[in-house]
Amino acid sequence: MTQYHPLSEGEAIQFAKSIPDLFAADAQLASREIGDGNLNLVFHITEPATGKSIILKQALPYAKVVGESWPLTLDRARIESEALQYEGALCPDLVPRVYQYVPELALTVMEDLSDHVIMRRGLIERNKYPKFAGDIGRFLSHTLFYSSDLGMNQQDKKERVKQFINPDLCKITEDLIFDDPYRDAETNSFDETIRDEAEALWNDTELKLEVARLRHGFLTNAQALLHGDLHTGSIFITEQSTKVIDPEFAYYGPMGFDIGAVIANLLLNFAGQEGWSPDAASRAEYREYLLTTVKDTWTTFEWEFRSLWNDRSVDRISNTPGFQDIYVEQLLRDTIGYAGCKMVRRIVGLAHVADIDKIEDAAAKERAQRLALAIGKTLIKHHRSSVSIDEVLDIAVKAA
Ligand code: ADP
Ligand code: MG
Ligand code: MG
Ligand code: MG
Repeated sequence: MTQYHPLSEGEAIQFAKSIPDLFAADAQLASREIGDGNLNLVFHITEPATGKSIILKQALPYAKVVGESWPLTLDRARIESEALQYEGALCPDLVPRVYQYVPELALTVMEDLSDHVIMRRGLIERNKYPKFAGDIGRFLSHTLFYSSDLGMNQQDKKERVKQFINPDLCKITEDLIFDDPYRDAETNSFDETIRDEAEALWNDTELKLEVARLRHGFLTNAQALLHGDLHTGSIFITEQSTKVIDPEFAYYGPMGFDIGAVIANLLLNFAGQEGWSPDAASRAEYREYLLTTVKDTWTTFEWEFRSLWNDRSVDRISNTPGFQDIYVEQLLRDTIGYAGCKMVRRIVGLAHVADIDKIEDAAAKERAQRLALAIGKTLIKHHRSSVSIDEVLDIAVKAA
């Protein structure tokens, strides 16, 4: 089984049995493909007799996009497994363990996290996760600091940049997030009821100039190793535990892109709450929880990032008094701008979010879409003048 081909469930079982020290050669295994099948196969392999289980994730050589097939390099499976191992070395409790990577099959063998739920689903069910902000703040501060020129020798860092060159996946982001939503592109997808909103985006020259700036940062600012796709569908969660999965978009880019992704997805759920909360009081209460989580995520990130800088920086010039403040102020502005971009694309672009799309009441769904766009556009337009995370909370509250 060394020639690349997408595995069948039977082959996935055969492969699992061949992994040393995991299952006995005569083990009775079951396999179920649980991925959404657009980019990757995800096999859940279980041994009912012992309760042991693992996940096999295999990259497909194409993405299914608007009925067509878009070629996509299998090298992203290497990037994903290497990013998981990098993250796991810094935050072992916050990512699945990688048992093995098989380059010929573009396949990663990893820890089964089926006892967690996908955070997007958990937020739609209006659960609260008291450890989340602290966990994700630690994940962001550690992975971003240690891969940057602050936490790593500048020559070693250049080797890392090479290791994580990821042009195919970056192009998806560059087109679907920073380009298509702002013009009448074929890949866009939105309800006809909000065509006025889409056309307003296409004609908003002030907004498009800010997005051009943010896109330029995404293209050129090799600041740190990003996860690259850190939405709430890439986070497995329980009340006690947070696990970040799916870093196939990892590359060296602006730190604010990852932090902004987390914040955007909390705010998309905020915008969708009319569809999920049973009454106005519970909606206000859950929205308050989401905004507190936005603030705590940034605050934890900033505090831990500054501590790492003070205690662990390897770059003498960066320790010039005053530079840390300048750097962190710029990070907040980037975070807010990228958060806005990530909200807008989920309403008018190709890929949507269940927090809003699955709202049954058409009028409530339309209001949620308009609210998400209002928040997203304001974040983008305001990002360069922002000085505090509280401004994000104010923007959300005023728009709601
Ligand atoms: P994709 O890149 O195709 O989005 P993901 O890594 O996000 O793939 O996985 C798709 C789905 O497969 C997840 O939403 C989750 O349901 C399941 N899955 C992925 N990794 C694991 C894991 N380690 N443990 C349990 N389920 C997983
Ligand atoms: Mg998917
Ligand atoms: Mg995914
Ligand atoms: Mg993915």
